Amino acid sequence: MVTLRTDVLVIGGGATGAGVAWDAALRGLDVVLAERKDLAEGTSGRFHGLVHSGGRYAVKDPRAAEECVAENRVLRNIAADTLEDTGGFFVTTPWDDPVYADRFAEGCLATGVQCEEISPAQALREEPRLNPDISRVFRVPDANVDVWKLVWALARGAATRGAQVLPYHAVVAIDREGDEVTGARLRDARTGEETVVRARVTVNAAGAWAGQLAALAGIDDVRILPGRGIMIAMNHRLVNTVVNRCQMPTDGDIIVPVRTVCVIGTTDQHTDDPDDHTVLESEVDQMLDDGEKLVPGFRRARALRVWTGVRPLFEDVKADGTLTRDVTRSHTLLDHSHRDGVGRFLTITGGKLTTFRLMAEHTVDAVCRALSEDRPCTTTAEPLPGSEERRHYNLGERLGRKEARLADEQLICDCEMVSRSALEDGIRRRATTNLDDIRRLLRLGMGPCQGGFCMYRATGVLHGLDGMTSQQANGALLDFLQERWKGIRPVLYGDQLRQARLDDWIFQGTLDVGHLST
Ligand SMILES: Cc1cc2nc3c(=O)[nH]c(=O)nc-3n(C[C@H](O)[C@H](O)[C@H](O)COP(=O)(O)OP(=O)(O)OC[C@H]3O[C@@H](n4cnc5c(N)ncnc54)[C@H](O)[C@@H]3O)c2cc1C
Repeated sequence: MVTLRTDVLVIGGGATGAGVAWDAALRGLDVVLAERKDLAEGTSGRFHGLVHSGGRYAVKDPRAAEECVAENRVLRNIAADTLEDTGGFFVTTPWDDPVYADRFAEGCLATGVQCEEISPAQALREEPRLNPDISRVFRVPDANVDVWKLVWALARGAATRGAQVLPYHAVVAIDREGDEVTGARLRDARTGEETVVRARVTVNAAGAWAGQLAALAGIDDVRILPGRGIMIAMNHRLVNTVVNRCQMPTDGDIIVPVRTVCVIGTTDQHTDDPDDHTVLESEVDQMLDDGEKLVPGFRRARALRVWTGVRPLFEDVKADGTLTRDVTRSHTLLDHSHRDGVGRFLTITGGKLTTFRLMAEHTVDAVCRALSEDRPCTTTAEPLPGSEERRHYNLGERLGRKEARLADEQLICDCEMVSRSALEDGIRRRATTNLDDIRRLLRLGMGPCQGGFCMYRATGVLHGLDGMTSQQANGALLDFLQERWKGIRPVLYGDQLRQARLDDWIFQGTLDVGHLST
């Protein structure tokens, strides 16, 4: 059995665990990150896609709102490439208590959520599909995030600083020596092989499964209150801005535009099992009805897919045990040496995806305290791999990239399969404007059409390159035709004569090469 030694073992490859691995690796610690499935296959990959502005919690959970405000700003900077800056609206629909809007505005002011009231008419100009009966609208800095890009960027960043990232490695046992956790045993889900990790500190970042992991370490009372929610992706981007109902958080009150679709969510059902992915028909119905309230005609769009995620909410004394939405959205860091007398073992749970970085910072601070080492956190400033230019993703990005290179694979010579990029590359490599040189290099114009179909294209490409004048391009074409003509003329009979007549029509008839200026 392989044994790995490390400073920190992180259990759970969601945003929180990957964030802990990235933070710890940046501080120069050795890290092993173990995830039982693929990275972000837990709640992080099954969420709504929203980087909260804080507005959702401004009235109900001011602490959570403040954390979102700060982390939203940080993420825009360090993880720009994973974010689309859609902005968000909080709208009062005819079904919402109109009094809440003023409380919302006050809550935003108190918690620092950037919020501007705009007229419903303005909102409808920007989002014409919105319910025309909305009475108040507030603009907030909501955004969406590509979570797989984010989590993999965290993992890649950690790996380039020496971390070992182990997807498909489930922790099957947590090792203890007396009152201290000394690491864990991992099982490779693909091969069945086991690995022992001996760690100076072990971090349980297993989200909704954190209670199960703590139990493996002999700590039975880490009670996570799993709250299961569904989301539905619709086949259109019905809105380009995140649209939230301006009311106390409830079911089906947010539509998030995500890439080419939009996602409505969510519900909140108590479950005992974090792997419970039950979807009730009634939930789907309710969600589609809620969509109608924000965007009339919502149901007429095609519902593509429904999925569920489980909130990793730590049960505190205030929770009534069933209503998970009433538990704070702030996170909880448990240092088990203080709480349970079990050293070198930490649990980080709760929170939101939006606040994963802060959760990681608090956790790695605690790791450093456990190691008695002073290593400051740098994750508020260090961009993730791919976000160095601090440019946000925009919807047209992939199309733009495709279009920029669309011409590259145009086929210039059908007979010899010479692409535009190969031709341009050849012209530059040879540093020539002589098409006969190019012919020898790429066999351009040497197939059955003998240049009839490809030479005018190749001349256009040549002309487009590096500031050549049209006279020079014309000259290159005429030189080439003259050269080819020498070899064709003696065999002008049968099919070759017919082909030569066609070429003649192309060059004399269409291009009028006899009168080109050179
Ligand atoms: C329906 C819903 C919608 C949400 N929408 C939003 C939103 O729009 N914005 C927002 O900011 N937050 C949202 N959240 C909250 C957010 O998704 C979570 O807080 C966040 O994803 C939790 O991340 P995590 O890394 O702590 O947990 P997870 O992503 O669940 O990671 C824990 C990992 O531990 C792994 N694991 C479990 N057991 C083991 C084991 N034995 N060995 C190894 N690995 C193990 C799991 O496979 C999992 O990948 C939503 C949550 C839900 C449920």
